[in-house]
Amino acid sequence: MIALVAATALGQDYSFPSSAADYGFYYPTAYKDWGGATDWNCGSLTYDGHHGSDFGAGSFAGMDEGRDVSAAAEGTVIATNDGEFDRCSSGDCAGGGGYGNYVYLEHADGKVTIYAHLKQWSVRVSVGDVVSCGQLLGEMGSSGYSTGPHLHFQVNGLSGYAGDPFDGPCGAPPTWWVEQGPYEGLPGNTCAPAGPCVPVATLTCGDVLAARNDGDGATSAAWHYGCSEFVYSGPERAFTFATNLDEPVSVSLTGLGADLDLYLLDSVECDGTGCLASSVSPDGSDEVLAFEATAGTTYVLVADGWEGAVSDFTLAVACNGTLPVDTGTPPDPPDPGGRDTGPAPEAVDPPSARVDGAKGLAGCAVLPVPAWAFSPLGFVAVLAIRRKKP
Ligand SMILES: [Zn+2]
Repeated sequence: MIALVAATALGQDYSFPSSAADYGFYYPTAYKDWGGATDWNCGSLTYDGHHGSDFGAGSFAGMDEGRDVSAAAEGTVIATNDGEFDRCSSGDCAGGGGYGNYVYLEHADGKVTIYAHLKQWSVRVSVGDVVSCGQLLGEMGSSGYSTGPHLHFQVNGLSGYAGDPFDGPCGAPPTWWVEQGPYEGLPGNTCAPAGPCVPVATLTCGDVLAARNDGDGATSAAWHYGCSEFVYSGPERAFTFATNLDEPVSVSLTGLGADLDLYLLDSVECDGTGCLASSVSPDGSDEVLAFEATAGTTYVLVADGWEGAVSDFTLAVACNGTLPVDTGTPPDPPDPGGRDTGPAPEAVDPPSARVDGAKGLAGCAVLPVPAWAFSPLGFVAVLAIRRKKP
């Protein structure tokens, strides 16, 4: 069977990056420059070469009162700077490479949001922190290349370019705000809902499927294994798989043009639990993941792009089981969903007897040990899976 999976591009949508309490103080002062000092709406609320969106909130008086800067979406802190002079009005103060005091967040879809020119010693997060949408990052200031207190909010896309979260006639779709709001107004201060956890296809033994991991899932920025929750990894594709035998299964991911990895999960629950095995060959190498499937269990297979990698791929599922034979009574016909394996052998070991490998995880530990491994559910899941010797 060859099936083509339709590609849809979903990304992380942003809330206006302030607390609800301070939201009403902010107003846009300069959008991204789309060329010739033209903003996304074909207006002139920008200046030559501006890569971000600037929002003021009452100049120095507002800054002194304190104006929260918050995470626009869940993310992981990948860079911070603090301690720089924060009352710059010349547009040319030293520190932070022009950004002064700042925070960079990387999101599950691989994009990075930047919060720049923050108030001195206001940065509340550290590199490696996983922050939720709306979590306080720091306060508005005027550090670095700044002529007065404002927040410079910038979105860098997967290739590092500075994108524009706004969509309009002189910009480019889609909007990256949950609610973009009017021109010269503010985007909504609403966090994106968690995305659905929907595997895009159902696989069984013998299936070969062509697809591309260009954007489904990626709803969370925690170190999760859930079918739509891979952080630092960005776009992934999830598939369900089931077989009607207890049998060895080998899944391969080939035709890669970038570093994709393969994960096996024990359910479609999007709770960050249940990684049973992974295949994490480097670069664009083929990936192969072998495991012992239990009859009737629905597994989730995830093709996951490392650090935002996107690639076409071919996913193939090969099974090596044989239909069980009950020697005491005439053999039952295969299940409607079963494969025709030809004449049944005279004697077959029960499926469990073919298993000669160790029990446990196969490679999921490339990520930090998840809490589920110590939960009763995770423990049962580990026991339920038998794995071939490497
Ligand atoms: Zn700016």
